[in-house]
Amino acid sequence: TGYKPLDEISVWTPTAGGSQPTDYKRNEKLDQKISLYNGDITKLEIDAIVNAANNTLLGGGGVDGAIHRAAGPMLKKECASLNGCKTGEAKITCGYGLPAKYVIHTVGPIAQGGVGEEEKNALRSCYRNSLETATKNGARSVAFPCISTGIYGYPSEQAVHEALKTVRDYLDAHHDKLDRVIFCVFLPKDQKLYEENLPLYFPAE
Ligand code: ADP
Repeated sequence: TGYKPLDEISVWTPTAGGSQPTDYKRNEKLDQKISLYNGDITKLEIDAIVNAANNTLLGGGGVDGAIHRAAGPMLKKECASLNGCKTGEAKITCGYGLPAKYVIHTVGPIAQGGVGEEEKNALRSCYRNSLETATKNGARSVAFPCISTGIYGYPSEQAVHEALKTVRDYLDAHHDKLDRVIFCVFLPKDQKLYEENLPLYFPAE
């Protein structure tokens, strides 16, 4: 990909066998900005977790359902006041019952009809707008699920590149505004894809 190493950013590799939610510690390796975390995003005690929501923001299945269950009914109340969210955009709420301070709701493209420029750009916008929303609100640690790759059908092998590229580009321009970006994987195939591709975008040396 031609990316040069960035001193402040390096890959954090989980312990062998994958990290469990309880293995994740806040402030661990603060010198390192990129983490790969395998587990439930609702367990992370950080500034902001990103939700792969739908246009209504009223809750759904997958990670969205898990976040709403863990946050409690107040989250849905706040979401209901936001007038929905367009694909590729992001809106922020409090975290309520979650250990995370904020939830950033973004809506990924539906890719069941295949991936074209429109879907690709929308997925990149999700990552960029989520990071922009985080930094605008003073959130310095942000965790992303694998947006659109579940129910919305975006192929994981393609999504991982859009995710890593967009985050890398954002950090290149704004790395003073963030302490840590966590890629939260939930499926073994995504863990493998991130382990393979993280070093391309965040080379260790
Ligand atoms: P989308 O509708 O955007 O495709 P999904 O929630 O269906 O969103 O899937 C997105 C990703 O989130 C999938 O990789 C899924 O395995 C993962 N996921 C589901 N539950 C959780 C959770 N509790 N924490 C983190 N990731 C999760």
